[in-house]
Amino acid sequence: MRALWLEDRRLTVRDDLPTPRPGPDEALVRVVLAGICGTDLELLRGYLPFRGVPGHEMVGVVVEAASAPHLVGHRVVAEINIACGDCAPCRSGLPRHCSRRRVLGLRGLDGVFAEHVCVPVANLQRVPDRVPDGSAVFTEPLAAARAAVDEVAPAPGTRVVLLGAGRLGQLIARVLATTGCRLTVVARHAGQRDLLASVDAEVVGEHETARLAGTADVVVEACGAGSGLATALDLVRPRGTVVLKTTSAAPVGLDLARVVVDEICLVGSRCGPFEPALALLAEGRVDPLPLIAATMPLEHGPAALERAAAPGAGKVLLALSATG
Ligand SMILES: [Zn+2]
Ligand SMILES: [Zn+2]
Repeated sequence: MRALWLEDRRLTVRDDLPTPRPGPDEALVRVVLAGICGTDLELLRGYLPFRGVPGHEMVGVVVEAASAPHLVGHRVVAEINIACGDCAPCRSGLPRHCSRRRVLGLRGLDGVFAEHVCVPVANLQRVPDRVPDGSAVFTEPLAAARAAVDEVAPAPGTRVVLLGAGRLGQLIARVLATTGCRLTVVARHAGQRDLLASVDAEVVGEHETARLAGTADVVVEACGAGSGLATALDLVRPRGTVVLKTTSAAPVGLDLARVVVDEICLVGSRCGPFEPALALLAEGRVDPLPLIAATMPLEHGPAALERAAAPGAGKVLLALSATG
């Protein structure tokens, strides 16, 4: 089969990979659309020691599933963490924190920048008919966006500043807007500000944040750069909360005295459950379709990742096959 292959921080297009064979509790999924996310770009920079097929955001069609034949022919999305079910975190109900977890396209498991991928049946969610492929491919990042918002569950009127309006920031902004909080989004690029026109939020440039210093009940940091945390600490009020979403390959130097003196709560947030994200899409409460900047074929995969890495780039999708 054809796929993108990552090795020694180099990405190549291959057509000589065997189509994977599903195990007894796995499904073979034909990938329809895959999304390129910031973590894929960090992977290229060496964020995790990964060799294989990258990619973890996808919508596809089940081709084969011995233990779940009712899924064959249906559109699905796949939760990306595959837990062992046996370690201490798994036993305490935290499978996403399994100490032996494999993660689709990120850790120990080939991902979705391929014509086919094998995924445990337990990780699959059927996509409601009314959600188009172009929206469904956002399920994984939308689940991550929703989980970040869920960490703080802002009440209506809560003063929230979102730092960053890139791929993930745009989704977080849309989820925050559903909560009735008083939202300000700090967006670096004009194109990112344009995409926020339909969102119920004040939108400011990154040089307009001085007046926000110390005012935010909650700051959600989704800049995609480690420097965002320092800005977040400037904007949050004493005893406020900062939610961190950026995974950066580079370590961050930071004066943490602010956290102590102002008794700030720092919350890390990675992934989230798929069902509520699919519900946001199915109910039309979040529409990610305007966020798609380009859809490119697998053969142009390296160029697609380059495009996604450009400053202010929107969501770039890889088209692997048709739904039908
Ligand atoms: Zn991602
Ligand atoms: Zn485990």
